[in-house]
Amino acid sequence: MGEVRAKKYLGQHFLTDESIAERIAASLALDAPAPVLEIGPGMGVLTHHLLANPLVELTAVEIDPESVAYLHAHYPELKLIEGDFLKMDLKQIYGDRPFMVIGNFPYNISSQIFFKVLEYRDSIPVCAGMIQKEVAERIAAPHGSKTYGITSVLLQTFYHIEYLFTVHEHVFNPPPKVKSAVIRMTRNSIKELGCDERLFIRVVKTAFNQRRKTLRNSLKPIMQDRKMADPLFDLRPEQISVKGFVDLTNLVQEILSQPPSRQALPTDTAAN
Ligand code: SAH
Repeated sequence: MGEVRAKKYLGQHFLTDESIAERIAASLALDAPAPVLEIGPGMGVLTHHLLANPLVELTAVEIDPESVAYLHAHYPELKLIEGDFLKMDLKQIYGDRPFMVIGNFPYNISSQIFFKVLEYRDSIPVCAGMIQKEVAERIAAPHGSKTYGITSVLLQTFYHIEYLFTVHEHVFNPPPKVKSAVIRMTRNSIKELGCDERLFIRVVKTAFNQRRKTLRNSLKPIMQDRKMADPLFDLRPEQISVKGFVDLTNLVQEILSQPPSRQALPTDTAAN
C-alpha cells in the first residue's frame, strides 16, 4: 500500500525524522501504565514509538479515511477511531478514567484542540505534542512578555507549560511554511479558580482585544459607565499574571454588583 497523499485542508505535514518522533513519544515521561490518546496519527510515525512502549495503552483518533486505511494495513493491532477529535465525546472513550493526549497536531486546529483539552482538564493530567513554533511560544509566554495573550492566560490557569524543543521545517513532508515546537502541559493543582469562570474568560478576552490600551479603556464594553478607581485598571493586559486576572475578575464583579455611580453618568456633568 502506497503512502498517504498529504492534504492541506487537514493540516497534513508528515514527520519524516524518526529520532524526533521518538523524542515526542518520550515527552509524556510515563512512569506507570496510562491510557494515551493520539490525535492525528497520519501514517503512524509517532504511533509506532507509542505502540512500542509497554506503559502506553494507546488509542488514536484520525479524521482522514486514507490515513485510516493505511494505519489498519500497517498497524493492525492499533486501536483506532475514525472521526473528528473536535466533535468527539471523550467520556465515551474513557468514562471517568484520566488519559493523556499526544500528537503531532494538525496546526490549523491546534488552538481548538487546546480549548477542548481545557474543557476536559480534570481528566487530562498531561498533554504533549508538536505545534507551530509561534503558537508554542505564545502558550508558554510569561506575563510581561509581548506574546503573552489569551491562550497563555487560559492554558496557564490550569496547566504548567514547558517549551521542550524546536523542530525545523525540513523534517516534514511536505515541509510546512513555519517552524514547529514540542510543548508539554501538566495539570496544576488549581481546581477552583477563585472567581466566576465565565466572567474571567470574558475579562481576559476583552482586555486582550485591545492589548495596547489600559484596562480602564479596554474593559469599557463590560464596565460601561462604571467608575474604575482601582490602580489595577491603570495596567495593560500583558502586565497581569493569571492570579492578577482572578483578582481583576473579582474586582469587576464587585463593581458590577453595585448600582452605577451617579457621578460617573455623563448627564450629571451636564446638569451641573
Ligand atoms: N502524526 C502524523 C501526522 C501529522 S499531520 C505525523 O507526525 O506525521 C496531522 C494529522 O492530523 C493528519 O493525519 C490529519 O489527517 C489529522 N487530523 C486533522 N484534523 C483532524 C481532526 N479534526 N481529528 C483527528 N485528526 C485530524
